[in-house]
Amino acid sequence: VREAAAFKGKGVLVGIGDDAAWLKTSQTSLLTCDLLIEDVHFIRGTIPARLLGRKALSVSLSDIAAMASIPDYALLAVGLPPDIELDYLDQLIEGFLEVAGEHKLEVIGGDTSASPLVIISVTVLGHPLKKGPALRSRANPGDEIWVTGTLGDASLGFELLKKSREQELEISELHYSSLIVRHFDPAPRLKAGLKLGPLANSMIDVSDGIMNDLTRILEESGQKQNLRAVIHLDQIPLSDDFKKFYGGHPLRSRQALSLALSGGEDYELLFTAPRGARTEIAKAGREMDLSVTRIGKMEKAKTREIILLDQKGRKVPAPKLWFEHFPRQERNRN
Ligand SMILES: [Mg+2]
Repeated sequence: VREAAAFKGKGVLVGIGDDAAWLKTSQTSLLTCDLLIEDVHFIRGTIPARLLGRKALSVSLSDIAAMASIPDYALLAVGLPPDIELDYLDQLIEGFLEVAGEHKLEVIGGDTSASPLVIISVTVLGHPLKKGPALRSRANPGDEIWVTGTLGDASLGFELLKKSREQELEISELHYSSLIVRHFDPAPRLKAGLKLGPLANSMIDVSDGIMNDLTRILEESGQKQNLRAVIHLDQIPLSDDFKKFYGGHPLRSRQALSLALSGGEDYELLFTAPRGARTEIAKAGREMDLSVTRIGKMEKAKTREIILLDQKGRKVPAPKLWFEHFPRQERNRN
């Protein structure tokens, strides 16, 4: 790790190699910490170590993106069981360092230990733009609700992967590989966070599906007055592969709706912004070549809730949360 992570940022007085890293920072700092535990967050046999290393850092960077901030440093701690393959750790670190290199942050320390299961702990330090970070707590009534990219791909990819294991198919035999890539190798929306954050009143990354993550915005922003979110289902952005899987009519399927709204692991950015920001948001999307879709609106309300409307403006009952259907992992990621 030491050689691979050897490039030195300006602020690193001592990186890997001593008892602790020694940093000099002048700005305000952001810190985030994530834990990935075998059989809770991932199943060892279903994800190659290199991709697990990539994903471990990418999901932490997604949190930094949601704060409209720039990542600077990362620390990685890994617990490994005795039955693990020899090069598992090397590959995991390789993937971790790949993502660090792609986003120009420095790995300044870490630890390894024996453990009954594979455990990965990632800490990332970053700093916000001058204007300060984007928060969950500043949504206003009248704000429009937006989301980057497409929803539901990663969770549908995971379902396909499980099916392929039951049928003993090779991954290469599967269709819909783009969906599986979304599950294995999410792309943190760091650029989008920096561009859209200053236009947004509130922002969060979609780790647990928009039903859950929008609720977090409603809770944090609704301290003084209750807010509700009205979402137009026909405006939910879905990928071509996702639509194709559901025969071109995904909204007719409760399963598709459940995956798109609460399947989780999308790692897109969900944000609210005043109506006046529409033109600039669209321009930012074009410049990044990333779809940014307006899906609804925040309103003042008596009770905090999410209202789903179909094409004709009729209220649709919320689909069961995906993980209530199919308990598969604990989801309380930040
Ligand atoms: Mg988050």
